[in-house]
Amino acid sequence: MNATEEYDVVIVGGGAAGLSAALLLGRARRRVAVVDAGRPRNERATHVHGYLTRDGVSPARLLDRAREEVAGYGVELIQGTAEKVRADRSVILEDGRVLTARQVILASGLRDVLPDVEGADERWGRDFFQCPYCHGWELRDRVLAVLGTAGSSVQQALLVRQFSDNVTLFTHDMEDLDEDARSSLGALGVKVVAGRVEALVSGRDSLSSVRLDNGELHPCEALFYEPAATVDASIVELADCSTSENGCLSTDEHGRTGVDGVWAVGNAADPAAQVIVAAGDAYRVAVAVNAELIVDDVARAKAGSAAGDVLLPESK
Ligand SMILES: Cc1cc2nc3c(=O)[nH]c(=O)nc-3n(C[C@H](O)[C@H](O)[C@H](O)COP(=O)(O)OP(=O)(O)OC[C@H]3O[C@@H](n4cnc5c(N)ncnc54)[C@H](O)[C@@H]3O)c2cc1C
Repeated sequence: MNATEEYDVVIVGGGAAGLSAALLLGRARRRVAVVDAGRPRNERATHVHGYLTRDGVSPARLLDRAREEVAGYGVELIQGTAEKVRADRSVILEDGRVLTARQVILASGLRDVLPDVEGADERWGRDFFQCPYCHGWELRDRVLAVLGTAGSSVQQALLVRQFSDNVTLFTHDMEDLDEDARSSLGALGVKVVAGRVEALVSGRDSLSSVRLDNGELHPCEALFYEPAATVDASIVELADCSTSENGCLSTDEHGRTGVDGVWAVGNAADPAAQVIVAAGDAYRVAVAVNAELIVDDVARAKAGSAAGDVLLPESK
């Protein structure tokens, strides 16, 4: 495809969500490009869990397979970063290339905001995690803990308790626990330690304890935490989309952002979407995007434009 041709869909982000949308649209014989900077949210993790038939695969292997699959349907994979998404649905890459598209899907994921705790960045994805469903099984019966950030940390501690009978909630950033929370945690035997965690302490390349700001050391083999989410601010600003309270892009139930022809899928729209959910969500949104393209195909055909190219693309 040369620089002046129009893609049916340009997808910004080639993680599970972006590639799932690309698979559906490629198989639907649409001209699709995926621009991907290659930094999926779970890149620090060694395994992806909870993805049916792929449980335990490495994140890199899962995406390699996905890229092979979509490439087989003629989807163009472009390594790089999209810097701007304009209102006319052109996507400007950092190397200056301009991709014009009839529809744009933002599948750019999110960034987790890690706590200001020594060792947090080093341990993230190794023995410091956000999701007990993804990593709890592998950590079963170990000495586990939750770093308290909000009221929902109580719920997270109760969930982590399913995986071990040795669970501690460090209150860290939390407000005082109310009586109801204390009695629920007590009922399941979750210990509560009041105080700020200052450092994650590791020995022999695995977490061994957490250190509080009063100097106390508490044994801990894995720590869970609910990070705040942030989406790439430049994408939000330049595509002129709005964000919701959870830090992700606001969409309607079909994945439409407030900008005509710009959609959002996966973690870009939903911080709680795990890999299989992000992929499934993107499939659903891609169907809606294709429906929108069909409406446009009809309008173009009626207007006597070259819509035939779109309805019956050349065999790939
Ligand atoms: C430590 C950790 C472990 C996890 N483990 C699991 C697990 O075991 N099982 C599970 O189901 N989920 C797990 N998750 C959640 C999982 O990472 C997400 O569900 C998944 O990554 C969401 O897919 P996505 O496609 O929406 O976003 P991502 O996978 O983050 O993909 C987004 C892609 O877009 C690219 N991108 C961003 N901005 C641009 C731009 N401007 N231009 C071009 N490309 C761009 C990024 O580089 C990235 O490649 C884990 C998360 C973390 C943090």
